[in-house]
Amino acid sequence: MTQNTDNVLDHFNLFRGPEYTGMFENKKKNFENPHPAEKVEEMRDYTKGWEYREKNFAREALVVNPAKACQPLGAVFAAVGFEGTLPFVHGSQGCVAYYRSHFSRHFKEPSSCVSSSMTEDAAVFGGLNNMIDGLANAYNLYKPKMIAVSTTCMAEVIGDDLNGFIQTAKEKGSVPAEFDVPHAHTPAFVGSHITGYDNALKGILEHFWNKKERTADGKINIIGGFDGYTVGNLREVKRLLDLMGVQHTILADNSDVWDTPTDGEFRMYDGGTKLEDAKTALNAKATISMQEYCTEKTLGYCAEKGQETAAFNHPVGVAATDKFLMEIARLTGKTIPAEIEKERGRLVDAIADSTAHIHGKKFAIYGDPDLCLGLTAFLLELGAEPVHILATNGSKDWEAKVQALLDSSPFGKGCHVYAGKDLWHMRSLLFTEPVDFLIGNTYGKYLERDTGTPLIRIGFPVFDRHHHHRYPVWGYQGTMNVLVWILDKIFDEMDKNTIVPSKTDYSYDIIR
Ligand code: SF4
Repeated sequence: MTQNTDNVLDHFNLFRGPEYTGMFENKKKNFENPHPAEKVEEMRDYTKGWEYREKNFAREALVVNPAKACQPLGAVFAAVGFEGTLPFVHGSQGCVAYYRSHFSRHFKEPSSCVSSSMTEDAAVFGGLNNMIDGLANAYNLYKPKMIAVSTTCMAEVIGDDLNGFIQTAKEKGSVPAEFDVPHAHTPAFVGSHITGYDNALKGILEHFWNKKERTADGKINIIGGFDGYTVGNLREVKRLLDLMGVQHTILADNSDVWDTPTDGEFRMYDGGTKLEDAKTALNAKATISMQEYCTEKTLGYCAEKGQETAAFNHPVGVAATDKFLMEIARLTGKTIPAEIEKERGRLVDAIADSTAHIHGKKFAIYGDPDLCLGLTAFLLELGAEPVHILATNGSKDWEAKVQALLDSSPFGKGCHVYAGKDLWHMRSLLFTEPVDFLIGNTYGKYLERDTGTPLIRIGFPVFDRHHHHRYPVWGYQGTMNVLVWILDKIFDEMDKNTIVPSKTDYSYDIIR
């Protein structure tokens, strides 16, 4: 036996033992009926070339490894940002298991969310009964202060009427008539998780703001958008606004619920925007979105209600942070304190210290549209070249915006932007026009292995490294984190490249 109780092997080594390797070989030979290894290698080589790239980019009816998720995932992300709120997804249970595990794997926290558990009968006759029972169960079992309803594709395909269903459920006593049950239709077959975030947040604000009169005050609303760094970023934004003395409300503040302490108490709900604050946020002078493409409809609604609006694109870097802070200063009349100016100076100093290592390096970036814009701007600021920029959920408008950014810098020359493409397109790009580094989420590790392009993990989800979500990437201090992550990978690669004794180690230096 490869495994025995006196010396329990981890699976890394266990599956390398003879009984397992033999079993895998047999399985391959007798059940998998594979093509000969040389043929597989030949095809693999073919897919690395320009001819295959052209075929790959001509494909229309097939998506391979899209760098996006479906709408309800974003709806759940927005919902947990409100005090005591239970996300309720009308549809199948398997979808919700996916959202919960996706968030739990990224944030390393339990993520609460329920479904109406629609099955075959509901798919045929409609899910009204599931809504009636589901709301009653959720309300009684989990004692939320608000239940935010969204939909999976199943409910949308059959055309369930959420508003009507919720009213009927209230009439039947599932939840009290005055209990808050905002809702949003989030059809998974259009848009992506960022569209779902937008729809859900707009639905929650409409629930509180519709038919209400606005009495303008001087406060500022901040929306973070769908963001894998929400724990670190929202705390950083609050710190900066507090330093400036700006009265603010973070809408959909999920920074605490995904960072609960281990102290013997399970918190199904923690932190979040107070429901009372969400109501009075209607009176704010302005609503600012940190991610334009996550909040297009929500900001439109805020503007309809008479608020000023401004949107940023995942602001990373000196210029992007300057722009954000100056907009806050303009809107509120507050000055930027010396403490923040000092943080700016420290970031500029750090960039100057390291610029020789980053300048001229070539990068490929993929992720959500705003993150790609933020990182592109920062790389250009560093004198690096963001050669391939890809967002599966990027629009034509996004593409034009990235192109304008590239055109504004000498380092953007020869760089290209790809909206609506997937990670199989990225593979072709990395083989035909190689770059020094790839920036993306955990799924990029397969591209790293396949193409040999070192991966810098920035994005969502990051499953295979821990705790990055606790670090901000916005503001001068947040940008410092991004700078360090990039530099760490550059130096790791440099060390790997120079490690052979008496051969390449003339540059295996202690000082970089
Ligand atoms: S795409 Fe549809 S079936 Fe798949 S997880 Fe999303 S809602 Fe569920």
